[in-house]
Amino acid sequence: LSEIFQVNRSTIVTAVEELTAYGLLESEHGGGTKIASNTWSLFLSTPPDWNKYIHSGPFKSNMQTIQIINKLEFEDKYIRLGTGELCPDLFPHELMNKVFKKLPSKIPSLNYLGPLGLPELRRSLTERMALKGIEAPDSSIVITSGSLQGLQLLSVCMLKPGSTVFTEAPTYLKSLQVFQSAGMHLSGIPMDKNGILYWQINKEISQSLLYTIPTHHNPTGLIMSEERRKELFHFCSGNRLPVIEDDAYGDLWLDKMPPKPIKSLDKNGMILYLGTVSKTLAPGLRIGWLVGPESVVYRIGDVKMQVDYGASSVSQWALTEFFDSGYYDDYLIFLRKELKARRDLVLSLLGKYFKDLADWNVPEGGFYIWLRFKKPVLMDKLFQMALENNILLNPGNIYDFSDNNALRLSYAYARPEDFSTSLKTLSEVVVRCQKK
Ligand code: PMP
Repeated sequence: LSEIFQVNRSTIVTAVEELTAYGLLESEHGGGTKIASNTWSLFLSTPPDWNKYIHSGPFKSNMQTIQIINKLEFEDKYIRLGTGELCPDLFPHELMNKVFKKLPSKIPSLNYLGPLGLPELRRSLTERMALKGIEAPDSSIVITSGSLQGLQLLSVCMLKPGSTVFTEAPTYLKSLQVFQSAGMHLSGIPMDKNGILYWQINKEISQSLLYTIPTHHNPTGLIMSEERRKELFHFCSGNRLPVIEDDAYGDLWLDKMPPKPIKSLDKNGMILYLGTVSKTLAPGLRIGWLVGPESVVYRIGDVKMQVDYGASSVSQWALTEFFDSGYYDDYLIFLRKELKARRDLVLSLLGKYFKDLADWNVPEGGFYIWLRFKKPVLMDKLFQMALENNILLNPGNIYDFSDNNALRLSYAYARPEDFSTSLKTLSEVVVRCQKK
């Protein structure tokens, strides 16, 4: 053995002794040493040590609070005051029914689609983008499985690990995770009521990128003013700092139309624009899109083919039909009215119960109200005590790790009749969680 394996003879002797001691080898008098009869069944019944594997990939684990939220969201007893989804009551069952009934006669097949996605959907998006002032020929659009996948693909295809991504602070929590898992440094830039304070970007800009949600920002609900959009665009163009503009909530204006996306100013392919129907229609369709220069779009399409062979073709056909039939626009009118009523209800309840406890913004659209406590609170205790009262919260520190005194409220998910009791209870819990 020592010759075959080229190891010292005494190493072999020690190994044999140890294996015999573990019962894995059997020595018989005069019969030599052999593998014990139960060794193979022992090997076969022992699973690999998965703990060695499960944390080996690039993804970090979610913060514990996020893991709890992800789990409890599916337990009916909780009133979800922070969830960034539409209330199931708002889902357009009838229109969806009509769309799906029409599909069999419209779909030629359910084969895989090309790298950029369904041409009919991309043509439809070209028209919709034009309404926002964005020139987007179908060769500049790639369909993704939700806009989060767009972010993910951009971060793994376009950025070197170690490069910096500037974001608003706070920002969309999953964007933080996606960039971090891809090995980026995050640099949170503060905001005022007109949007990101871009002049505070003073780090090394080469090989960096800026990620922004200018319209109905997640989680603060703010809108970047038209002037700030122009200034930001000039700053980024001047510094050759590419921008990812996430417009997930752009269609959800409630009072007046927001300024046009920053992408509408872009004639040189500086801005990568992300769209989705997850906030307006159905996250379950898993359809988003990215608009950008052809080189970027083709690269993303190429990698997407390696990742999942394209977004669901059923969903792409359904969405095309939703757009082209005019149902989407009809539904948006209904949705805006509903969301506006819910927002106004929540604002009036906040005025009633939180006047002395917190400050907040009045969002002109989207889903969110950013609640800042006037006195410091013990956030973990608040989260726990809210749970004990069957209220599930989204604490501010999951959107900005350094901010422990804010909450993201969403008026989109909970039912109107649940807001009144839960916000009253929450205000009482907040008082009990204030730091002494
Ligand atoms: N961007 C923002 C700002 C969001 O809030 C969300 C959903 N929470 C997304 C992107 C991702 O949406 P999806 O992947 O479902 O399109």
